[in-house]
Amino acid sequence: MTTGVVVLGAAGRMGQELIAAARDQRDLTICGAVVRAGHPAVDTPASSWLPGVLLSADLGSALLGADVLIDFTRPEVTLRALREAARAGVPAVVGTTGFTAAQRDELAAFARELPLVFAPNMSAGVNVLVKLLQVAAAALGEGFDLELMELHHRHKRDAPSGTALRLAEVLAQARGQALGEVLVTGRQGDAPRAAGELGVLALRGGDVAGDHTVFFLGDGERLELTHRASSRRVFAQGALRAARWLRGQPPGLYGMAEVLGL
Ligand code: NAD
Repeated sequence: MTTGVVVLGAAGRMGQELIAAARDQRDLTICGAVVRAGHPAVDTPASSWLPGVLLSADLGSALLGADVLIDFTRPEVTLRALREAARAGVPAVVGTTGFTAAQRDELAAFARELPLVFAPNMSAGVNVLVKLLQVAAAALGEGFDLELMELHHRHKRDAPSGTALRLAEVLAQARGQALGEVLVTGRQGDAPRAAGELGVLALRGGDVAGDHTVFFLGDGERLELTHRASSRRVFAQGALRAARWLRGQPPGLYGMAEVLGL
């Protein structure tokens, strides 16, 4: 059974990576590639190896007969697209990051109608890291201070990264804290560390696909857990895996843990 995928944001860094990664997948085809209206590439081929699939600005038409929508765009674009996906009854994989709390609630509401995978990081490694953090936070306890550093390419818009916020959320939960009450995203001037604080710092530059390091800082020892993505292909492969898994699932909001069976 072949899964027909529509890629939204097809001209973007992740969109192009998805189209390239799909080439190696036998049971999955790109049946639609959608870009923003007015994009100069509209009506040009989505890829040299995808004859007949032109970049289009018409998501509604692209969704007709599709099995799954994969979105890597921007939050407001994602929410509009989910409205169309719900209308067409097409499940969706959302990789976009940078949602406000209200936008996340809006996104979650679509999961009552649609099967939805929403994951700020689709790589297998980061999702295993989430598990490791839960173990380490519980084992090391409150005697260890928690800090997190992330590094991404110079074009990234949202900061801290969606992955960093997800990792921070996992750490806060493991300590029974509300992230909003302990999160510190910068320090300057007279800014000593408060007890229970969770510092998250964002570095930007070059073409870095995405690095995340979590520090457990104790007295006399420290543990550092690092994930480095050296290619965006890992996110694309995760998204395609999620698309295949999502087909046939009941409506609901799923993460990569479910997709990967973690
Ligand atoms: P990008 O800017 O290269 O691509 C986004 C694309 O969306 C652009 O081509 C833009 O023209 C397009 N777009 C904007 N409005 C649109 C519309 N109305 N219809 C169709 N397309 C539209 O960005 P990117 O690096 O590809 O990242 C996209 C998103 O994915 C970001 O939020 C990023 O943080 C996230 N991301 C997530 C993961 C993950 O594993 N979940 C991995 C990498 C990036």
